[in-house]
Amino acid sequence: MTPANQLTVRGVPVEVVRKDIKNLHLGVYPPQGRVRVAVPASMPDDAVRAAVVSRWAWVVRQRTRYQHTPRQTPREYVSGESHYLFGRRYRLRVDAVAGHGSITTKGKATLVMSVPEGSTLEYRRQLMDRWVRQQLAEATQPLLDKWATTMGLTQPVSLHLRRMRTRWATVNEHTGRLTMNTEVARQPLESIELLVVHELGHFHTRGHGEAWIAQMDRWLPNWRDRQARLDASMLSHEAWHC
Ligand SMILES: [Zn+2]
Repeated sequence: MTPANQLTVRGVPVEVVRKDIKNLHLGVYPPQGRVRVAVPASMPDDAVRAAVVSRWAWVVRQRTRYQHTPRQTPREYVSGESHYLFGRRYRLRVDAVAGHGSITTKGKATLVMSVPEGSTLEYRRQLMDRWVRQQLAEATQPLLDKWATTMGLTQPVSLHLRRMRTRWATVNEHTGRLTMNTEVARQPLESIELLVVHELGHFHTRGHGEAWIAQMDRWLPNWRDRQARLDASMLSHEAWHC
């Protein structure tokens, strides 16, 4: 029997590398928390599995640490910072103004944030969150309208935006609510469209079985490429599903 080069332990793939070594080395690697174990060449699969399982609590701690590491350093909303909107990178410029705060784009690569002198971090964060949410709503609603028609939905669908930890988007077929993660605003419009088609597809087909795949192939023939790019943009796509 050929030794496995991959084991699955509690749903997590573990890469097994057999080498001319005496001791087992278990590692968890960023950014996704990939698990790899180097073992003596002659070590049987059962023994490898038992050794990995015996250290599983440690593996989980390491993976959790990576998965919770923010993909970006904490935002301070100061001039020079990079911010992403619809897959495009913008350089932030913060101007002090009299009156209320506002955000506008300037050209293709600058975001101008106008804030009162001495504004707090919390003020700037909320200003940005509101603005991003509005941009996302304005970009998503037309896609929702277009695809609801194309896909022949008979039920009205309402768009809701909120911050979610483990999902890009979700839909409730009974209430007609499509909820999208505000983080999606960083993604290109092609990804937002993918999510819209994916979620609306659940009004026709539950789950992600063959029927659902067939309808994705029909409506959005390049959906797999879009999905791959969306997954690749995530720190841990395992934790992100629809
Ligand atoms: Zn789904």
